Amino acid sequence: MIEIKDITFSYGDKPIFNAFSLAIGASICITGPSGCGKSTLLRLIAGLETPQGGAITGVPEKVSFLFQEDRLLPWATARENVAAVLPRMKRGSAMSWLAAVELTEQADSLPGALSGGQQRRVALARALAYGGGLLILDEPFKGLDPALTRRIASLIHTVQIPIIATLHQPDEIALLGFDVINLA
Ligand code: ADP
Ligand code: MG
Repeated sequence: MIEIKDITFSYGDKPIFNAFSLAIGASICITGPSGCGKSTLLRLIAGLETPQGGAITGVPEKVSFLFQEDRLLPWATARENVAAVLPRMKRGSAMSWLAAVELTEQADSLPGALSGGQQRRVALARALAYGGGLLILDEPFKGLDPALTRRIASLIHTVQIPIIATLHQPDEIALLGFDVINLA
């Protein structure tokens, strides 16, 4: 159980959270309008930002984070981008993660030669390959068409670790079927 207790957080003098609390016991979906603090909350949970007040406890040591931006290594192929997070002995499994996101044929392509949705799926394959005790997905379906979104949602359902995802679209939220926290 992750417990967010009375946190206060601001960027400079811009307040984002004031005495915000949330207990997370299972996979959840965080929603709310652009700029309401979804990505900030994910970064706080992952320990990439520190609240000025309050506390966040119960976060597993190893967290896998799909950032809102893909953050792929531009000089590395799709396969190398996924393999980069795997221990040497397990690098061979990069191909099966790429297959899971339907990118077998793009394995040797550089990110710059892939569409936005393909780059998104490389980033997702890398996050899934990394594993850990918590999977954070900031707008996982960005750039995916509805059919692909459905198939990737099915893939996410097969993941055995708790997930915290942010999403905008009600239909995408319904696809994941997690409890919903609206920050608005
Ligand atoms: P969301 O993910 O819900 O769209 P964010 O958490 O990215 O929202 O941002 C919340 C607010 O904080 C926005 O107004 C954004 O402009 C601001 N913000 C985000 N990151 C920073 C930063 N590093 N420095 C200053 N302001 C930021
Ligand atoms: Mg965001």
